[in-house]
Amino acid sequence: MALKTSAWRAERNRKALARLTKALPAIFPAPVLTHALKRPFIPPMPRLAIDGYWRAHPIRADRLARALAAKSGAPAGWTWRLASGAQRDLPRSFRFPPAPYRERAFARGPGFCCVCGQPVYRLGWHADLWDAGMNRNATWHAVCVIAWRFWSAPSDWERLLRRVQERRCRESGKRLLRSAEVDHRVPLFKVWKEHRDEPWPQLLGFWGVPNLQLINHDMHAAKCAAEAAYRSQARTQEAAV
Ligand SMILES: [Zn+2]
Repeated sequence: MALKTSAWRAERNRKALARLTKALPAIFPAPVLTHALKRPFIPPMPRLAIDGYWRAHPIRADRLARALAAKSGAPAGWTWRLASGAQRDLPRSFRFPPAPYRERAFARGPGFCCVCGQPVYRLGWHADLWDAGMNRNATWHAVCVIAWRFWSAPSDWERLLRRVQERRCRESGKRLLRSAEVDHRVPLFKVWKEHRDEPWPQLLGFWGVPNLQLINHDMHAAKCAAEAAYRSQARTQEAAV
């Protein structure tokens, strides 16, 4: 049975490699190709190879997306706001990172990435390796798709974070248990409350690796309880004013 499966996979990979080779532009990022050829299932198209590469390297994607955003800076007149009522282009909650270029008033239009605001090139790449100019059909960089997913749902990459932390709980220093949870060192409600006016894109760092940690469930529960007490105290103070 195993033999049959591996023969099937070898055949599938042979076809995928033939398709990929045929579709591959003369210039293609070398690390992406190396990664693609090492996959158990070789991606049959260049764009799939690129997407797979970033999916496997979310930490790199996080860093690069923030660097690209730093090139753009925040548009003049923009402030971080949450949606109220029918504003569909604003984030509903501080769980999602602020993204000025996703807002209708500040969007740069087709060919620009809605996450970082920089031009998108062929295959969703962030640099014009081909001298082919902007890709006017695109509004996301391949790298920014993954950065956005990582910022919005970091627990999808729990296994990777576990490896990065060498399986140690960042709060207690003890061995990370199976039940460990992804935590924002500075909780996102606090970012919204106390850091809201910090410049974008530095703000994005609160959703990325600089503010992420995997901690054991008991430490997380204690931290959440302390945060809940802090929030209710803040609410009482606000009500008293
Ligand atoms: Zn981008």
